[in-house]
Amino acid sequence: MNQQYPRKEFLKLTVLANAALLTKPLALLANNSVPEHPNVFFYKKGAAEYEVLRKGFNKRINKYPQVIALAKNTAGVAEAIQYATKNNLPVTIKSGGHCMEGFSCNNGGMVINLSEMKATSWGADGQLTVQPGCTLAELYNTILSKKRYLPGGSCGSVGIGGLTLGGGYGLLSRKYGLTCDSLLEVTMVDGKGAIVNSAADPELLWACRGGGNGNFGVITEMKFRTYPAPATMQSFRFRAFKTDPVRMRTIVEQWFLITQNLPPACFSALVLSARTAYILLTNAAAHTAEVAKVIQQFTRLTDKQTAGKRVPLAQALKVFYAEDQPIFFKNASAGLYKSFGDISGYIDKVLELTRSTPGMIYQINTLGGNIQNAEAEKDSAFPHRAYGYFSELQTYWETETQGNRLLQRFQAVQDIFAQNKISAQYRNYPDSNFKNWAHLYYGANYERLQQVKKKYDPDNRIQQEQSVQV
Ligand SMILES: Cc1cc2nc3c(=O)[nH]c(=O)nc-3n(C[C@H](O)[C@H](O)[C@H](O)COP(=O)(O)OP(=O)(O)OC[C@H]3O[C@@H](n4cnc5c(N)ncnc54)[C@H](O)[C@@H]3O)c2cc1C
Repeated sequence: MNQQYPRKEFLKLTVLANAALLTKPLALLANNSVPEHPNVFFYKKGAAEYEVLRKGFNKRINKYPQVIALAKNTAGVAEAIQYATKNNLPVTIKSGGHCMEGFSCNNGGMVINLSEMKATSWGADGQLTVQPGCTLAELYNTILSKKRYLPGGSCGSVGIGGLTLGGGYGLLSRKYGLTCDSLLEVTMVDGKGAIVNSAADPELLWACRGGGNGNFGVITEMKFRTYPAPATMQSFRFRAFKTDPVRMRTIVEQWFLITQNLPPACFSALVLSARTAYILLTNAAAHTAEVAKVIQQFTRLTDKQTAGKRVPLAQALKVFYAEDQPIFFKNASAGLYKSFGDISGYIDKVLELTRSTPGMIYQINTLGGNIQNAEAEKDSAFPHRAYGYFSELQTYWETETQGNRLLQRFQAVQDIFAQNKISAQYRNYPDSNFKNWAHLYYGANYERLQQVKKKYDPDNRIQQEQSVQV
């Protein structure tokens, strides 16, 4: 089941969609504006399906497209693009709907919704072809039942489509690389409505490995390499309470030092909030002396430690699936760093704002390991492999009006990073307020991505707020 909608609404949608299969796409046939088609259903405002399909994971963002095309297959996507071209509508793409800034919806254009395109099929040598609407929970269920693994993100309701096309990091990326590093082939409907395959154009594959989110076409199938799954994983949690500014800074500095030589099967996150510092460590390999040393060092730094049981990987991953229903939040990349030295000059200001803003979280995650593979660097548009750390800023709230102060504070922190010339941000954690986003997300690869855009979408049919420009 697609988990991005409230269960009640989704059941309603399923019933309606089934009814539509038996009859017709009701809303649009009523005003005769859209042809009937088995590969794709078109919905406009007023249709119950429209309202459900329109929504994304972030309740803060509401956009209203003129038409939503619910595609059933690649041919349906091509038909949707032809319809958009004929009616001069910009096209935005939605797979799992988890874009933090709502870049998978638009106002007044067409949204191609791929949430029903979630099939998976196995090929030779453990290769897996996946449609982009498949959620990570669905994907992990499929592959782990065959004792195979594909490195993905932690949240179960994120779509494999958006995750892969922007990079994709998670608990096991240090061992297996980013999700996009395992991408072997894509099928795409380009901005002109043509169905193309990357087997005929390695440049397209290069672009889709980290630079393919809503830029030049709709990816409808992705073929991945998979790996024998690690059998188990163990998690360790460390907490420091009553953190005064000096202690907070020490914890940050020490965390960087301790994690710089983390074993590849380990991941760590440092999560800082108003009064506590929390460290997560996961390990999907043997409990070696190296891991024991890291645990000992984190223990010295904190007040309370918890060691989880070593459990089967499928069970361990589920612990990190998080919320699967839409929520109010802002979460964005807050810089990629090479070491504590990158932020030491101004981190106190960031920590002070974090400490004085309940509801705000500043988190730093380990990258590094096999993400830094030189071949992957050459073969992908993801430009940030030299950075061993990725940070994110998060704020959450309950009701529509509560967010204003938090958003101001959020921007104040982002301003500190911008003023201090942070030069790399992760495209999958975009921020609408990044001014020079093209350089921040894609670095020197932006111009090469522009050439791909020129080839596949010269008329700029495919658009989102921060899409590559011709
Ligand atoms: C709760 C949560 C947890 C997360 N955890 C992680 C994590 O652990 N690791 C990580 O790397 N990221 C993580 N992310 C970020 C996530 O990778 C991105 O938000 C990702 O883009 C979501 O993919 P989606 O298909 O769900 O989103 P969508 O909103 O559907 O799409 C995201 C972007 O990709 C484009 N796009 C989507 N599908 C296609 C397609 N088929 N063809 C072309 N363009 C397409 C959209 O136009 C949009 O710009 C998380 C996000 C959330 C909200």
